[in-house]
Amino acid sequence: MPPAQLTNRGYRLTLAIVALGWVLSAWLYLGLNGERARSDAAELDRIVERIQDQIHLSFTTYENALRGGAGYWAAARDPDWNGWRDYVGALGIRERFAGTSGVAVMEAVADSDLPAFRKAYQQRILGFQLRWPPGVVPPSGAADHFVVVAAEPSQPGRPAPVVGLDMSADPVRRATAEAARDRGEATLGPSVLMAGSNAGTRRGFLLFQPVYHGGAPPPTIAARRGALRAWILVAIDAGEFFKPLQARWGDQVEIRIADSANTAVFSATARNAGATFERRVQLSLAGSTWTLALNRAPGFAPGAHWAPLAAGLCAALLTLFVALLVYNLQSSRSRAEALVESRTKDLSSALLAADAANRAKSEFLANMSHEIRTPMNGVLGMTGLLLETPMNDDQRDMALTAHDSATSLLTVLNDILDFSKIEAGRLELRPEPFDLETVTTGVAALLGPLASAKNVSLRCSHAPETPTLLVGDEGRLRQVLLNLAGNALKFTQQGFVSIHTRCVETRGGRAQIRIQVEDTGTGIPETARAQLFQKFTQADSSITRRFGGTGLGLAISKSLVEMMDGEIGVDSQPGAGSTFWFTLWLPLQSEEASASDPALAA
Ligand code: ADP
Repeated sequence: MPPAQLTNRGYRLTLAIVALGWVLSAWLYLGLNGERARSDAAELDRIVERIQDQIHLSFTTYENALRGGAGYWAAARDPDWNGWRDYVGALGIRERFAGTSGVAVMEAVADSDLPAFRKAYQQRILGFQLRWPPGVVPPSGAADHFVVVAAEPSQPGRPAPVVGLDMSADPVRRATAEAARDRGEATLGPSVLMAGSNAGTRRGFLLFQPVYHGGAPPPTIAARRGALRAWILVAIDAGEFFKPLQARWGDQVEIRIADSANTAVFSATARNAGATFERRVQLSLAGSTWTLALNRAPGFAPGAHWAPLAAGLCAALLTLFVALLVYNLQSSRSRAEALVESRTKDLSSALLAADAANRAKSEFLANMSHEIRTPMNGVLGMTGLLLETPMNDDQRDMALTAHDSATSLLTVLNDILDFSKIEAGRLELRPEPFDLETVTTGVAALLGPLASAKNVSLRCSHAPETPTLLVGDEGRLRQVLLNLAGNALKFTQQGFVSIHTRCVETRGGRAQIRIQVEDTGTGIPETARAQLFQKFTQADSSITRRFGGTGLGLAISKSLVEMMDGEIGVDSQPGAGSTFWFTLWLPLQSEEASASDPALAA
């Protein structure tokens, strides 16, 4: 694979990892963010619920206090102002009720009764006079007046500033008081600007509790109107009332509370009434519906916002790191593969070149050996003829030496020629019918004189029932056997050399013949045995000097045996002798004849 292609593959894999990793990181971020948003929403809901509970609880406390006051007036037939002061003092209004400074009593007075009413109260309260809430124009010709006649807690002889306040002239206060009278229970009105010490500066709200002659509220509105005795009321400073809420939740949420007219009674946010709020709930408070609106403040769920982003970024960075690692590994692999590829190419071209050179050399040697053999035969022929002519003894010796030398040289040349042919792949077998026994006995006969000269016994034997009429290249078989038997004789100084033939098995018209040559010669050390059948190898280099030889004989024998579908090997014991053996698969002559001659086969 070309390196460029590998690099492209590396790029693609890296990009795929980055893309997949970043998609997973985004998915992780979105998942965590969604989870955070859900838990934030749940937390916001919880805060809204807690705030609602707290507002309702506070209102219930006020309602209960007012109901207690109503009970007091229901029990008292005539106004007992001292008793009332004690009763309110016992309630601990300023300490226990946030945002209010006291409980007031308000009476309804017909316009015609006003002078007598004023006179009566001026006698009771020093400096009593009618007053009006901030910004309210005193009425003229009103049917009735709602006048505050007491406000507790107060110090004896020093009435609270709201005493004498006529609320009827203010439509909001009047409407709330009338609604309380008609409903028969504590009623909250829309917010107003506060009267009294906080006059005109702060917003608050009034909670009216009607008190009826006879105690319990009459069943019908008309009856309630007729039975009204007074109102007990509290004016609550909105800022003070909601202060605890702000203190408790202000850092987490921005709170806005609007009255039934949608006027903000409390607002801890820069947003106005029309703005969108995350949460908006209706509060049902003493006959009035107020609205609580909320937004998250910057301090909401601190620390949770960056977590999903951090997790997503970490995952993305990790992906990048892994992708770079993979890319690095990929490009290292590409480089290694490219290197291996180019080295392999170099190596195979070097091998091809070496092979070609070897073949060229073998061909050259084969040709040259052939060329040399021709004049060598000439020398041999001529010295042979020369020896048959009359010569004196010295001349005969010289001619004989020249003839022996030429014979040796021809043997060497033949070895080189055979080997070169094998190497060049030009050696071919010529299979023909032959008699195995003739070959083995012929080899024994050929070596007989040499054996006798060395006083070594040379034996030749055939196992019973060994087929002898076979088909094969008789000449090459003789060459192998001659080489093994010749070596055996060469390396044996005393004892014997034996040639033994047997049949291992016959199958499919062929016989596996095993021929072994045993001697009692020098033997071959184990280390040398492995190399023995390789070309130009001799067990001991001193042998060449002692016995001569090219070291090619066994290599040629091995090649020939393998060409004849056989194996060659040696067992040896240094000092005791060697046994060289080889096997051959050869067709039996009878089978060969029947296969090649249809008439015989029939
Ligand atoms: P060479 O022509 O040199 O004899 P061979 O290939 O026939 O070459 O033999 C290689 C070597 O194997 C010999 O030189 C010798 O060292 C060893 N060898 C072969 N046959 C025998 C044997 N029968 N006994 C001991 N050594 C042997």
